[in-house]
Amino acid sequence: MAGVAVITEACIGTKDRACVDVCPVQCIYEYDATTATLSSEQMAGSGIVENSHQPNADSVAIFGDTILYVNLDECTSCTACYQPDVCPVGAIYSEDHLPNGAPNGPRYNSTDPNTGHDHTFFLQLSHDVFAD
Ligand code: SF4
Ligand code: SF4
Repeated sequence: MAGVAVITEACIGTKDRACVDVCPVQCIYEYDATTATLSSEQMAGSGIVENSHQPNADSVAIFGDTILYVNLDECTSCTACYQPDVCPVGAIYSEDHLPNGAPNGPRYNSTDPNTGHDHTFFLQLSHDVFAD
């Protein structure tokens, strides 16, 4: 099991940052609407920013700060975050093992243009959300 990590819909509303604490390269980002930036912390909740990026406004507007985002250019495919005992809701996967989603599922927020998401949606979102 290898491949870059992709965060999917189950993170929405959970976002406990357990994956952040096991990532050795701080490539898992949170959106801050007040500064309109994506930033990663050295340790979850530390407030110490390790890296930051500019978001694509349209892409980040879909879920905003309700979910975390893996920067696929920085992920080393180390596998740590998608071990089964890390994410409490099974939201984070290797890109090679993304399960089928629920294409007829509910919207996740009022501005979401999609009605449910195949999990491949989140692979594309991970690419699109980083502008730099
Ligand atoms: S696979 Fe490794 S490097 Fe990539 S996001 Fe997960 S913990 Fe970080
Ligand atoms: S992907 Fe899982 S472990 Fe990471 S913040 Fe979301 S719910 Fe928590």
